[in-house]
Amino acid sequence: DVTRKPIIAGNWKSNLNHYEANLLVQKLAASLTAEQLAAVETVVLPPFTDLRTVQTAIEGDKLAIVYGAQDISQHNGGAYTGEIAGAFLAKLGATYVVVGHSERREYHNESDELINAKNKAAFAAGLVPIFCVGEGLEIREAGNQVEHVLAQVDAGLEGLKTEQLKQIVIAYEPVWAIGTGKTATPEDAQEVCGAIRARLLEKFGAEVADVVRIQYGGSVKSGNIAQIMAKPDVDGALVGGASLDAEEFASIVRFPE
Ligand code: PEP
Repeated sequence: DVTRKPIIAGNWKSNLNHYEANLLVQKLAASLTAEQLAAVETVVLPPFTDLRTVQTAIEGDKLAIVYGAQDISQHNGGAYTGEIAGAFLAKLGATYVVVGHSERREYHNESDELINAKNKAAFAAGLVPIFCVGEGLEIREAGNQVEHVLAQVDAGLEGLKTEQLKQIVIAYEPVWAIGTGKTATPEDAQEVCGAIRARLLEKFGAEVADVVRIQYGGSVKSGNIAQIMAKPDVDGALVGGASLDAEEFASIVRFPE
């Protein structure tokens, strides 16, 4: 039997200035015990401009909270105005980086090829991608969600080494459930997360499939997290809106209780 440590990550999106970021991290730390933080890997994903503040708050108080960024450049530095290279994120103590969030796929036309390059750039900088996949409403209504998501998984993982595949976190986020208050049912989440794990098993074997953590994302809150986490192939959650409130996010992290 394999145990995968649950991972709950809060995607702040373009919210919270550095003062608000500091406050939220302090409140979160005050709301969670060492035991709770040991049981569930707890991650915050602030805007780039808050990373130094979050680093200072977490390192200064030796908090067992980890953090990461919401995007990464495919390039490792150079003449790419406005881009943030992975090395800069690693230097700021980031552990994770979100790659291929549906808002970036949609508003910035990020392709599967670019997302694959960003997954590789993350590993090259010593970061772990939280690699996002998920179908839009039309695809869901046509019943093609599994096929669509597996194609995204195949493309995003192309060329990664076994040691990298074993570390990656995959976030299944049905686009129609993000920020809409519409949560996929636990059965919907399990259908796709189970299909992702089956694909990992088929392509890379049990050494990868058994250890990769797969998150569900889409209107997760304290009231629905436990039922979602009860599903065998769901190992965590990527939380947007509900991660902006320290007490609510802490309640989500306390889901095992
Ligand atoms: C997200 O942005 O990854 C997300 C899941 O958002 P929300 O929880 O607000 O639906």
